[in-house]
Amino acid sequence: MKTATKTTAKTTAASRAKKATPATKGATTTRTRMVKAKSTAAEGLKELYIDCLKDIYWAEKALTKALPKMAKNATNENLVAALEDHLTVTEEQISRLEKVFELIGKKAVAKKCEAMDGLIKEGQDIMESTEPGAVRDAGIIAASQKIEHYEIATYGTICAFAKTLGQDEAAALLHETLAEEKEADITLTEAAYNTINFDAAEEDGMEM
Ligand code: FE
Ligand code: FE
Ligand code: ZN
Ligand code: FE
Repeated sequence: MKTATKTTAKTTAASRAKKATPATKGATTTRTRMVKAKSTAAEGLKELYIDCLKDIYWAEKALTKALPKMAKNATNENLVAALEDHLTVTEEQISRLEKVFELIGKKAVAKKCEAMDGLIKEGQDIMESTEPGAVRDAGIIAASQKIEHYEIATYGTICAFAKTLGQDEAAALLHETLAEEKEADITLTEAAYNTINFDAAEEDGMEM
């Protein structure tokens, strides 16, 4: 199973490299060049994978600072609990990423994720522009779900990269985190539908 994955990964990387390098056509040096191109494609993907890991490592760390602020600003008990619970989960996700770095023999380094920085700022803006209560809660849910969706996209991608590179153990760890992000997203949707959005509408004088 492990070998099969690795073989597929190499074949894919090799065929992609071949397509991307027209210079390999018809020369006597074809063979050497192909080998070189193959390793370059795999190296390139690995580099991209490590870059993505650094990016999400920064993002998760930033979230350990943002989540307590969101919880403090939330009113609904379920929402506060969901945010506090996700803080604990996020701390575990950071350790998991450190394990992934260890598995590939790289130092865990954080590189600023501009996207997460923007999403967190958007959440702050919402909190500053709303009164505490159901409406601010609805805004916190909206901001948190954008964050979770960014994380879902990221972990989906890096999990696929890890699998392609034949790093099954890392892929399993990243997949665990992916499942947690999806769960957090569902919890937030439930919180919104069960009470908060209805309360927010009532605060605005709407009848639901
Ligand atoms: Fe996370
Ligand atoms: Fe990013
Ligand atoms: Zn996965
Ligand atoms: Fe998350």
